[in-house]
Amino acid sequence: MKKIAMMNPIVEIDGDEMARVMWHWVKEKLIEPYVDLKVEYYDLHIKVRDETNDEITIRAAEAIKRVGVAVKCATITPNAERVKEYNLKKEWRSPNATIREILDGTLFRAPIIVSNIKPAVRFWTKPIVVARHAFGDIYSGIGIRFDEPGEAYLVYRSVGGREYTVKIGSFSSPGVIQAYYNLDKSIYSFARAVFKYALIFNLDVWFAAKETISKVYDARFKEVFQEVYEKEFREEFSRRGLKYEYYLIDDAYSRAMRSEGGFVWAAKNYDGDVLSDMIASAYSGSLAMMTSELLSPEGYYMAEAAHGTVQRHYYKYLKGEKTSTNPTAIIFAWAKGLRRRGELDKNSDLIKFAEALEKAVIKTIEVDRIMTQDIAKVSDPPVNMVATTEEFIEAVRKNLEHILQHQEF
Ligand code: NAD
Repeated sequence: MKKIAMMNPIVEIDGDEMARVMWHWVKEKLIEPYVDLKVEYYDLHIKVRDETNDEITIRAAEAIKRVGVAVKCATITPNAERVKEYNLKKEWRSPNATIREILDGTLFRAPIIVSNIKPAVRFWTKPIVVARHAFGDIYSGIGIRFDEPGEAYLVYRSVGGREYTVKIGSFSSPGVIQAYYNLDKSIYSFARAVFKYALIFNLDVWFAAKETISKVYDARFKEVFQEVYEKEFREEFSRRGLKYEYYLIDDAYSRAMRSEGGFVWAAKNYDGDVLSDMIASAYSGSLAMMTSELLSPEGYYMAEAAHGTVQRHYYKYLKGEKTSTNPTAIIFAWAKGLRRRGELDKNSDLIKFAEALEKAVIKTIEVDRIMTQDIAKVSDPPVNMVATTEEFIEAVRKNLEHILQHQEF
């Protein structure tokens, strides 16, 4: 079969540890034999970020703005232990936070549903898509640790010379303070991205926050969502029989447990971070069965896996042991990035290839019942084979070959 041509490149952002190892296996075995791959490559390995004083991360984000489409591997966000482990100059910021901030996008995380893995919540028959706001919140927060009694104030000085001051509190013992922010512009884009996504996939929208307690910050989010919905989306939602609901976040959690799924759950940045891991593990028991897509208001797009670098498996791999790490989300990230490139370039062959790749993974799990350890233990009916990562990729490759041979290109 002739390799599928690409007219324009995608940005490939490489990462760390086991995710990096799988990233290259997937690329070599499942993409490069079939696609004449055009990429702009950025290596965000922790040592490269350290050597470039994290400039590489900014360059990668700028490249996404130029090229429009990116795929990203999981990267280490260093803490004190990692600084020691990799002998780093400092605790560099989360590359994801840097990229999301530059792109001002919304993150959509959806479970990859397969029929032989039943969700932990038995009522869930449809996916719950988590729309995580990808800007601000604690990720751009700043903190102070104090060790003497004192007072704290929050001061805002406008360029026009106005000053707002609020007292945070008077403290008689040591403690910590944190401040973070968001911007109206970003909240409006977030709300629009969520309603647009819901219309594309015909889903209801929930937005959940805690405006009864967070009377300024969360209240602003609630207000913006309501305004955008009323002015721009209510008519189309009513026409399609779709609903928008605002819930207090605790109420949303308990309602979700009794729902059948099938909606987009919009959440602020931190809430979305926590919620998406919970949803991933409740649907399939594994973070590796969740897709993650970033859409910016300008249409920039980045696909990644929702999971991290799978550190513990990497240490086993370094010892020469075989691991059964699940590459599903990484394969889906490549498929989604290529599909988006195909859509933008009107390259139907590339779109069909991306669909074939996703189908090949689903067939491997559902029909062949070949799975990695993480999902094998919850499979019903039981697995035929618990595969190592390489065996799983090989099984997907066989299915992919078969699907491609029976598709017209
Ligand atoms: P992790 O997602 O790597 O692992 C969390 C748990 O899920 C572990 O028990 C792991 O074994 C399991 N798991 C995750 N992916 C799996 C897969 N594909 N197959 C089988 N099991 C899988 O998160 P962590 O342990 O909290 O963090 C490890 C590193 O990853 C940290 O340095 C962190 O900064 C980084 N991280 C990066 C991203 C990203 O770049 N998107 C996201 C989260 C964490």
